[in-house]
Amino acid sequence: MDNKNKFKLNNNSLIPEVGLGVFRIPVADEAYETVKTAISVGYRHIDTAMIYENEEAVGKAIKDSGIPREELFITTKLWNDDQKSGKVEEAIDLSLKKLGLDYVDLYLVHWPMKDTYVEVWKKMEEIYTKGKTRSIGVSNYEITHLEALLKEAKVVPAVNQIECYPYFSQDQLVEYCHEKGIIPEAWGPLGAGKTDIMNDSVIVELSKKYDCTPAQIILQWNIARKVIVIPKSVHKERMIENLKSVNISIEISDIKKISKLNKDMRLGPDPNVFGFE
Ligand code: NAD
Repeated sequence: MDNKNKFKLNNNSLIPEVGLGVFRIPVADEAYETVKTAISVGYRHIDTAMIYENEEAVGKAIKDSGIPREELFITTKLWNDDQKSGKVEEAIDLSLKKLGLDYVDLYLVHWPMKDTYVEVWKKMEEIYTKGKTRSIGVSNYEITHLEALLKEAKVVPAVNQIECYPYFSQDQLVEYCHEKGIIPEAWGPLGAGKTDIMNDSVIVELSKKYDCTPAQIILQWNIARKVIVIPKSVHKERMIENLKSVNISIEISDIKKISKLNKDMRLGPDPNVFGFE
């Protein structure tokens, strides 16, 4: 993998700055076509999860793409019940089987389960040592979770995948992750279709200034802050638009202007009380 438009993780692995998220594409045919199209237009990074129920379709699309495995970056995630039962190796083995892969590039603990999130990390370290995943990380971890985990960890998480878009800029958590050598990764980077962020006057004004689309400005804002983005789209034109956000260069003063849009407006579950344990 060359290092163009990629971030280096704390174990020197490279991760493409933009990936395709495939949450809420449970229908196999649609997930297959979506991933196949994405790879054909240049995506090399796909973000799935056991709970998205589309690992098989993702795997088939990867296989049929004809792109060498080592050029792709595939993430999947450990769901909460497997964390609770401690069956981490069984869970990754099942994900690998469904994906038709020998290893994933990144395996994430999907949510910090109150009583198990520190303990489960030891099992994540074991599967990492066994080579079932090239990197291990977490998702939806707040500073308190990371502090507790880092006290016990032998391997520092490579990534923390968190909800992050301009109305929920997560400045403090992003800064904390960077200080600890953890690359933040933004889920819901476009507001998950739940806000009018694309029509925000600052975003619209900047998209005119940089001759690009609101989605591209929003994605580049995170990339410029060294935050990976995994926008979801099933439409080829939007996939291309989102991927091209890497080509825009925004002045630092404008990055700050976007960060100031923060309203601490969380759209997804709060990691401290997510309630699907
Ligand atoms: P998103 O912010 O990527 O928004 C997706 C929606 O934005 C799409 O449904 C589409 O309507 C719209 N969109 C996409 N590109 C557009 C464009 N160029 N112009 C206009 N509209 C556009 O939200 P998401 O899907 O919730 O998050 C992205 C990915 O993050 C998911 O697919 C999944 O892989 C991951 N995720 C992870 C967690 C977690 O707990 N770790 C939670 C949610 C999502």
